[in-house]
Amino acid sequence: MSEDHTLSGLPGRVIYDEIVLARAPWSHVVRQGETLRIVDLEGNQAVDFLVYSLADDAERYSFQDTITAQKNIYLRTGSILRSTEGRPMMTIAATSVAYHDTIGGACSCESNTLRYGHHTRAQHACVDNFLLANAAYGRSKRDMTPNINFFMNVPVEADGTLGIVDGISAPGLYVDLRAEMDVTVVVSNCPQINNPCNGFNPTPVRMIVVA
Ligand SMILES: [Zn+2]
Repeated sequence: MSEDHTLSGLPGRVIYDEIVLARAPWSHVVRQGETLRIVDLEGNQAVDFLVYSLADDAERYSFQDTITAQKNIYLRTGSILRSTEGRPMMTIAATSVAYHDTIGGACSCESNTLRYGHHTRAQHACVDNFLLANAAYGRSKRDMTPNINFFMNVPVEADGTLGIVDGISAPGLYVDLRAEMDVTVVVSNCPQINNPCNGFNPTPVRMIVVA
């Protein structure tokens, strides 16, 4: 008999468990003290991620405050995701991936045409997913902020050069995010097919919340 190791190590009882289809948007309220586990089911799938305070969504994820406070550009176990007010929003309680990116940004139709050519203009992109998911909360383009790319490998070389290269994730790897305040998480399961961030093949991810 095989067990579901996907749930191992989670602190609490499962109150939510859903698959996010390849290329799809997703959002969910996570209450203070709950933990969200994101599972990269098939490996090398970038999960573009935004987080807003539920009490007042003018307070939202700030990558500047996050990397300045921890004095490191990568997100690892123990990293605290900080808000525009500098407050802890979520903590990476555990992850089986070496590090995650928060400087590579989200793909858009506009950046696709610049990078990969006009023929990519009609391809689906993360910015579309973010706008779609955020519309349910009355948020729009002005509410888009620099995001996190879980499971995406954006190495920074000694001279500061950024890359987007083959993933360091693998099937079944995960990241656990403990909410430090009531938050709305907004995700784009990245549909990009022009660079290696999804292994040129977008795949589903699994979202589990425990309380
Ligand atoms: Zn994307």
